[in-house]
Amino acid sequence: MKCKNSLVPLTRAALIGAALVTAAAAQAQAQAGEVNLYSSRQPFLMKPLLEAFTDETGIKVNMVYMKKGMLERLKSEGRNSPADLILASDIGNLHNHDKAGLLQPIESAILSANIPAQYRHPSGNWFGLTARARIIYASKTRVKPGEVTTYEDLADPKMKGRVCIRSGKHVYNISLLASIVVAKGTEGAAAWAKGLKANLARKPQGNDRAQVKAVFQGECDVAVGNTYYMGKMATNEKDPVQKKWAQSVNIIFPNQQDRGTHVNISGAAVTTAAKNKANAVQLIEFLSGDAAQKIYAEANFEYPVKAGVALHPMVASWGTFKADKAYLSRIANQRIVASKLVDQVSFNN
Ligand code: FE
Repeated sequence: MKCKNSLVPLTRAALIGAALVTAAAAQAQAQAGEVNLYSSRQPFLMKPLLEAFTDETGIKVNMVYMKKGMLERLKSEGRNSPADLILASDIGNLHNHDKAGLLQPIESAILSANIPAQYRHPSGNWFGLTARARIIYASKTRVKPGEVTTYEDLADPKMKGRVCIRSGKHVYNISLLASIVVAKGTEGAAAWAKGLKANLARKPQGNDRAQVKAVFQGECDVAVGNTYYMGKMATNEKDPVQKKWAQSVNIIFPNQQDRGTHVNISGAAVTTAAKNKANAVQLIEFLSGDAAQKIYAEANFEYPVKAGVALHPMVASWGTFKADKAYLSRIANQRIVASKLVDQVSFNN
């Protein structure tokens, strides 16, 4: 900006003015303060979101990325933890932090309005920010249309030796099984887990993408995985062979004629140790808003939790589907039961 009555670009008055402006900006930033975030969501995904937040609010975000070990770290730090809030994937991880007493309830009209009740804790201990469906990846050549339409089909004897899935103990699969406990009771879920195990083409191993790879290679005909991996494989320039894995399968949203497909979340929660609680709440509110929901959807092929936010075109191309309406808080409460069932049927052996 130029001083309109100055003849030279920078007069002494303009210099003092500029210094005052800088000081004012610094003071605004200091007043807005900062917030400390522990995130198991990756920096590539969070960086644009956090920058947009700082631009809008002046609040500086100090993010520590933790691929693993967040729960242990927060437990050991206790009340002295610098973390004001956490970001984590899967209801299982959020629930485990909650059960360890590490999270505090938050009341926010914005969060209540933006996030459907089934994707947040009833008392506000955690909030879903993105959604992903746990779907069936079916071989284009070896699975007939209509042959597999439900999770129950995966446990049906017709699928003997045809199913691939990662470890039954993985957080994604425990949540899926917990959703089946909610839908069919403990006995029903036990029978499903037993039937599924009997149909496995190989011992559970690898991550979600490795299951689709196994379908591509002909080891199995169907696999279980999260939706966003389809987008990540189909657009993978670093490892282009993954495009072939994606091309070899169709996506099936299970149980469209009854309870709907299991949908999980990534989400956020404020810690009990939070020293910048108001800023932490403001950040979660920002992440639930239109602008941030759009960035999330574009960057990671996930579903926005907020209604009316546009999907990534590829995600939109998979079509609309009916999601299981069971509250994730209710599903989370069955995770211990589900974990015991995995042991009981020796799922991984
Ligand atoms: Fe994942």
